[in-house]
Amino acid sequence: MDHSDPDEIWAARAQLVSYSNRLLADGLAVGSAGNISVRVGDVVAITPSGISYTELRPADICLVARDGTELASAEAPSTETPMHLAVYTATGAAAVVHTHSPEVIALSASRPELPAIHYQITGLGGPVRVAPYRRFGSAGLAEAAVEGIAGRSAVILRNHGAVTCGRDLAQAYDRALLLEWLAHTYRMALSYGEPAILSPAELDEVAAEIRRRRYGERRCGPA
Ligand SMILES: [Zn+2]
Repeated sequence: MDHSDPDEIWAARAQLVSYSNRLLADGLAVGSAGNISVRVGDVVAITPSGISYTELRPADICLVARDGTELASAEAPSTETPMHLAVYTATGAAAVVHTHSPEVIALSASRPELPAIHYQITGLGGPVRVAPYRRFGSAGLAEAAVEGIAGRSAVILRNHGAVTCGRDLAQAYDRALLLEWLAHTYRMALSYGEPAILSPAELDEVAAEIRRRRYGERRCGPA
């Protein structure tokens, strides 16, 4: 039995349509590639398989239970639904974004991870792993994604794309944009030769400073 609010579910469906169009506009996917989802209580709202994002309406967004049972779906849910569900279970996130973005795919085919080329990578939990190649839609891909995202909020899927997660869709989506930007920046740096990479100690220092400043904001901000 689920305890999800129908108004919240409708809002999630509308939000998924709006972010699907951003996915195209920001170059994170083409056509109907990639997929995004939002968890509302025990229900996951996810983009359908095979409908172009430009034609998507809120009623087309599929609803599935945490075990994958389809609850209300005029369309077939995304082929990567098992991967989304596995990431929710492993991370406790409330939104998942799966992109087919070019910089990330190019890196995935050539490198074992995205190293710390810029301190903002701490926003993803540190250097981002490239998970081994597994066929789209397979249980193996869901497993590889979960292993790769452990301790992070992003994972790159070799010869495929990337997955990011967050406490809401805005955060998961911003992380997808950040990941693509970092991959782009790393490729530019490689064109000069072997770039300098931030050490774990330097990243720890950044993470500690961010925590300290957040504490300050909470202390000084409105109640
Ligand atoms: Zn995909």
